[in-house]
Amino acid sequence: MIGVYGGTFDPVHYGHLRTALEVREALDLDEIRFVPCRIPPHRRKPFFSAGKRLELLKLATADEPGFVVDTRELARPGPSYMVDTLASLRREAGDKPLCLIVGLDAFLGLPGWHRWQDLFELAHLVVMDRPGYRPEWPSALKPQVEARRSDEVLPLRRRPAGRIFFQQVIRLEISATYIRQCLREGRSPRYLVPDEVLELMV
Ligand code: ATP
Repeated sequence: MIGVYGGTFDPVHYGHLRTALEVREALDLDEIRFVPCRIPPHRRKPFFSAGKRLELLKLATADEPGFVVDTRELARPGPSYMVDTLASLRREAGDKPLCLIVGLDAFLGLPGWHRWQDLFELAHLVVMDRPGYRPEWPSALKPQVEARRSDEVLPLRRRPAGRIFFQQVIRLEISATYIRQCLREGRSPRYLVPDEVLELMV
């Protein structure tokens, strides 16, 4: 199984890295693909340039076997829709299971994503808890959770896509927003990001 961890990574932080490692181990994924977006459809222009976000992400993941940075969204013109990314990964993966990994905050906003219902045809969804968010499903999401939820990993291995799996991860209250706020206010984001990221960031 391949994990797909999309995000703006503006910048990458330990909240991304630690949760990715835990999901990889818990689901025994062959690899996790970090997919930085070029133009995030749901938010303001990133603080760091695409080149810088990519550079920091590559540095942060370089030492971990099984962590791969995938640049297809940066190379694709227009807004970075996850459905396009998964369609392109699916063409390469054949029938291998793909697991789109999202934090609970992102999952709660899923009905706002471009062609969100098509995501289930292309990948499983692995949802990680995140401090500050509660599993209270918006009405559009509720039937999908009820129909697709699996409490075991095996059903995810048995088919390429279509299940929703909730994975407990360590609750790290770290966000890129907070790191950018530190930088703007002249405070240090040390210990929230790897040292080599910190060095290149400030
Ligand atoms: P921002 O604060 O700018 O919104 P972010 O810290 O949420 O950024 P993103 O790059 O937007 O980071 O997130 C990419 C993915 O990582 C999303 O699915 C998000 O839910 C997840 N994620 C980020 N930080 C954490 C965390 N601390 N715990 C669990 N999931 C996280």
